[in-house]
Amino acid sequence: VDVALIGAGVISTTLSVMLRQLQPDWTQVIIERLDTPGAESSSPWNNAGTGHSALCELNYTPEVKGKIDIAKAVGINEKFQVSRQFWTHLVNEGVLGEPSEWINPTPHMSFGHGTQQVDYIKARYEALKDHPLFQDMHYTDSFREFSDKLPLMGEGRDPYEPVAISWINEGTDINYGALTRQYLDAVTSEGVEVRYGNQVTDIKREGTGWKVTTKNLHNGDISTVTAKFVFVGAGGMALPLLQKAGIPEIKGYAGFPVSGEWLRCTNEELIEQHSAKVYGKAAVGAPPMSVPHLDTRIIDGKKGLLFGPYAGWTPKFLKQGSWLDLFKSMRPGNIPSYLGVAVQELGLTKYLVEEVLKDQAARVESLREYIPNAKAEDWELVTAGQRVQVIKPIGAPKFGSLEFGTTMVNSNDGSIAGLMGASPGASIAPQAMIEVLERCFGDRMHDWAPKIKEMIPSYGQKLWKDESLFNKLWDESQTALKLA
Ligand SMILES: Cc1cc2nc3c(=O)[nH]c(=O)nc-3n(C[C@H](O)[C@H](O)[C@H](O)COP(=O)(O)OP(=O)(O)OC[C@H]3O[C@@H](n4cnc5c(N)ncnc54)[C@H](O)[C@@H]3O)c2cc1C
Repeated sequence: VDVALIGAGVISTTLSVMLRQLQPDWTQVIIERLDTPGAESSSPWNNAGTGHSALCELNYTPEVKGKIDIAKAVGINEKFQVSRQFWTHLVNEGVLGEPSEWINPTPHMSFGHGTQQVDYIKARYEALKDHPLFQDMHYTDSFREFSDKLPLMGEGRDPYEPVAISWINEGTDINYGALTRQYLDAVTSEGVEVRYGNQVTDIKREGTGWKVTTKNLHNGDISTVTAKFVFVGAGGMALPLLQKAGIPEIKGYAGFPVSGEWLRCTNEELIEQHSAKVYGKAAVGAPPMSVPHLDTRIIDGKKGLLFGPYAGWTPKFLKQGSWLDLFKSMRPGNIPSYLGVAVQELGLTKYLVEEVLKDQAARVESLREYIPNAKAEDWELVTAGQRVQVIKPIGAPKFGSLEFGTTMVNSNDGSIAGLMGASPGASIAPQAMIEVLERCFGDRMHDWAPKIKEMIPSYGQKLWKDESLFNKLWDESQTALKLA
């Protein structure tokens, strides 16, 4: 085949659809170890479903020397606009079906309580409110308005404790599992083959391409696929598979798995009373992806409510992975990276130990910071997806750096690439896949440019520098994606 994609999650399927648009004559095969698509991190109950565009996530706007640094927030928002444009194009072209099956409008709110957090929420609001990409941002520190907007969070709270929220109504909740399925419906109807129940066990050079060995997990049959280009969209298993391919670019990289748990609300009355994604401040020592949030979800047309994630720890690289995953990924080349991070991240280790030791009573106590009257019987514990945070090799004396975003690794000749790391992966998958194209198909980019411009009209531009283009594209996507 021309292209072999490993994993049928939201990342590989984004690339599959993009390549069908750009080069419909190329043959593609998708290889998936499970029997269904989007069942690992892309499954709606395994992630928070936030359309990450930095409207509410406080870790993207750190306070540096008393000033709010918005650079990261602007960068994430720009990337999310690429997703919105890509989806708009696909819906308008009839490639994707009914958008409300996977994207729904949900206000995004930032929450602070206590004087220090309230000051921060206000300063963040002041820093963002006039920015073209953060239009219509609101703020209040009135307890009455707070309680009106968020009754579950107001009820039972000390009215004399300072509280503040800032919000943008045009946030989104996304079911990345349903999006994956729509992507797959589109490509399989055009002849792309998906081999379910087949695990990739090896990737080896063959000429200028690759030989991918797969094992059928039902009958043990071994098969091979030869491909000119391989994309490793295997979620947490991207690291070991890129290691198997033996490309020098992966040397020194390591992975640190962090599992997660949610409290899922089982009381329909409570679910109905809350309609927002509310993000707060992370606890001291907590990694950015463990920032607590209270999330309205829309899954299969039904409203839900999640709180978390609580961090956990297992050595698995996938939720349905093996206890040996971490140990099998250790190599002489990445041991210094692991050791470097172990020494630097003592705060994270302490935080993880505390989180793992939390029982249900302690979890509900954390939830009460958001819902003061929360009762344990209204919430059930569910296991979230597995994240494998990337440890990047760096020089002495630190040796390794723990990354909280996503990292793309590709071979020098562009014949293989893979995406590692988690957040904000799914939200910004189209931009990440454009980067794959730029890095691996540089010689095709000139021919593809007009089609890319059609899919993503702002391609090559910064939208924050062109407010009228931003407004036009925003309105188009609000209509096409039925978000207005
Ligand atoms: C707790 C949590 C909360 C999150 N919240 C958000 C959020 O709010 N917003 C957001 O945008 N992102 C969020 N994310 C991140 C998001 O879920 C991921 O970025 C995204 O789902 C990754 O998609 P993927 O296709 O790379 O991986 P996956 O969905 O994990 O898919 C990988 C696929 O590869 C298959 N596979 C693995 N190894 C092999 C092999 N050897 N052979 C064949 N198949 C293989 C797996 O079975 C799986 O189906 C969150 C993640 C977690 C864990």
